[in-house]
Amino acid sequence: MYKCRVCGKPFESELYKAHEVRFGWDDEFDYVHCPHCNSVYIKEIPDDLGRYYSSEYYSLQDRNESFENSFFRRTARKYLLKYRINGKNPIGKIIALKEKEAFQWIEQGMLDFHSSILDVGCGTGRTILKLANSGFTSVQGIDPFLDHDIVYHVGKQEVRIWKKDIQEVEEKYDVITLTNVMEHMTDPHIAFKSFAKCMHNNSILMMYLPVMSDFSWSHYGIKAHQFSDVPRHLFIYSVDALRTVAAQYNLSMFKCKPSFYYKILYDVYGNMASDIQKMDQPKLIQELVDKNDAGHIFAYFKLIE
Ligand SMILES: [Zn+2]
Repeated sequence: MYKCRVCGKPFESELYKAHEVRFGWDDEFDYVHCPHCNSVYIKEIPDDLGRYYSSEYYSLQDRNESFENSFFRRTARKYLLKYRINGKNPIGKIIALKEKEAFQWIEQGMLDFHSSILDVGCGTGRTILKLANSGFTSVQGIDPFLDHDIVYHVGKQEVRIWKKDIQEVEEKYDVITLTNVMEHMTDPHIAFKSFAKCMHNNSILMMYLPVMSDFSWSHYGIKAHQFSDVPRHLFIYSVDALRTVAAQYNLSMFKCKPSFYYKILYDVYGNMASDIQKMDQPKLIQELVDKNDAGHIFAYFKLIE
């Protein structure tokens, strides 16, 4: 019998065996499935979790940003960001047609170039450096798996990245982002409690993460793509479980959209990506969320007033 580390209810589960494949180490880990909240998580968090985040891990590699932040790229990105922020920039609109996935997490009106942003689990800072290089004036990051703190100088701005857990952060931010990070955190309750502490009444918490898909789970089980980064993916939540845990810490999920991940759509609908692109996309998106098949989502939270 287990007590669910997500919803707290008791349950029985078979053990689902998953293997480390990214580095080819093949270590085996047991995962359990809670039938109450429909989350799957690692039975025991490895004591030596840090070992699985060696500097070879993609988010922790040193950055050579000169290409990504060349003058041309910075300028194009600035137009795109302006369009994402207020929907008005015509050049940005054209770029957005081509760069569908770039900064897809920015919802119109959720921030501006002066918003204070904390990127949690930012690795060596790829995303925040792009933001700082494209006009954002107050971006910072934290990552507990770094070897040490990092300071970048972008124009006159100091972009700081601290080797820290979210529990250690004292300041409040306008926007907190987690991109493929929540599933790596060791305790969802400590995480949401800490996010809430770092937010004011107008703050937005945005997380992009793999979530349970009933379709993938029933067809592929522990071989589903959500478990392809074991043991680092400690928890794969259902959307409802995320919503419920967040609410316990006074946070409401006010928006949830699937990332347009054609592989998932292919799995779910059995159509080729080109066919899917012709389908009624808003309807498809809603259907994926309603049927609990989203697989990978952007979820947005704010404090309940
Ligand atoms: Zn549960």
